[in-house]
Amino acid sequence: MTVTVRFAPSPTGHLHIGNLRTALFNWLFARRHGGRFVLRFDDTDRERSRSEYADLIAVDLVWIGVSPDRVIRQSERLPLYDAAAERLKAAGLLYPCYETPEELDRKRKRLAARNLPPVYGREALRLTDADRQALEAKGRKPHWRFLLPNFADDPLAPRRTEIHWDDLVRGPQTVDLASLSDPVLVRADGSYLYTLPSIVDDGDVGITHVIRGDDHVTNTGVQIAIFAALGLTAPVFGHHNLLTTLSGEGLSKRSGALSLVSLREAGLEPMAVASLAVLVGLPGAIDAMPDLDELATRMQFEGSSQSASKFDPSELDRLNADLVHAMPLVAVADRLAAMGVPAGQADAFWQTVRANCARVADAAEWVGVAFGDLDRTPELSGEDRQFVAAARDSLPEGEFGPDTWREWTGALKQATGRKGKALFMPLRLALTGRDHGPELAALLPLIGRQRAVARLG
Ligand code: GLU
Repeated sequence: MTVTVRFAPSPTGHLHIGNLRTALFNWLFARRHGGRFVLRFDDTDRERSRSEYADLIAVDLVWIGVSPDRVIRQSERLPLYDAAAERLKAAGLLYPCYETPEELDRKRKRLAARNLPPVYGREALRLTDADRQALEAKGRKPHWRFLLPNFADDPLAPRRTEIHWDDLVRGPQTVDLASLSDPVLVRADGSYLYTLPSIVDDGDVGITHVIRGDDHVTNTGVQIAIFAALGLTAPVFGHHNLLTTLSGEGLSKRSGALSLVSLREAGLEPMAVASLAVLVGLPGAIDAMPDLDELATRMQFEGSSQSASKFDPSELDRLNADLVHAMPLVAVADRLAAMGVPAGQADAFWQTVRANCARVADAAEWVGVAFGDLDRTPELSGEDRQFVAAARDSLPEGEFGPDTWREWTGALKQATGRKGKALFMPLRLALTGRDHGPELAALLPLIGRQRAVARLG
């Protein structure tokens, strides 16, 4: 069977780096197994879902390099869920309940007062047809619960019923269905909670592996029971740990914190973001991976952390700088052209400046230095100014090349007795306006004779 995974965001906000972790675990898993990746928008919540968010999520994924084999929207698939709900009702596995939220709350409090777990007591199953009619006549609309298979003959006498699954990340797991409330699948207004549509889609689309955050571990036992009730084979489940900020706060789609769009706008490379999103909490160092194929080789669930991983957003700067320092020209040629780097000099320019750039956008500073006018006038002592002027007059003849700097400064050293910083720093300041920067041997040919002469004057 072809490995088929899905990433199922609800389009209620911007994707953040924690959502990306889930998306990439799925994508990389599919990649490793020659499988398929489905993007599913869980947009049944009409109030909170927005198609603009769905569009932005698709853009974020393209930026990272994730292209779905198929895209589905739950809002377009309601008849499938209706059919499944009808089947469960017909089998007596989806039953109407009339309690208000306040009544349910009172029930839970009564149980808590007796030190009992807050499990729904299936009181609605005791209602007669006449009771139901009376409630509906009063305007009560039912919500619908799935009857968990945790009893022999009498649902009012649940007994320990274990569900087992071998979690890809967490290993063997056991849940006792008697410890859980029958889940509400359909709200009183007829809308679906996430559970049933998700299961119906996983079955319909042929999802073989569900890889998601461990906030869903507690749903899995119930979901396996519903897969079985619908005659569907449950997928393999894997629950990865969640990411939190350094202060231990969870990430939220609605807060916009660490959203992919904000990281993109800050000029970070997608692979810096992808590397951190995946590698934090995994065995081994958090290194900048140059592409998704390389990242796939590092993805492993064995030995990954099972408690939340705190991550440091400033790591993104380090990873980004590492990527930029090793980046080939092809990856930046368009951006350099947009900054005004002449095509014929782009390669030499990039080789010269990339080690001084933490972000590609930092190259703009050196575009000015190499090809434009200096944005600042260096402050030189009178003595240094004289030295620089003399240096101008002894610039080697002809086109500047890779050896020009060495020849020039070698001659200056002999002529003036200056060496080290005293020799180089006034020249660097005069030529670039800065006391730091790329190797002058490489920068000087880019600056060229005309600009060099003017700046040394
Ligand atoms: N829409 C759900 C979520 O974002 C999907 C959960 C799942 O992967 O089953 O939490």
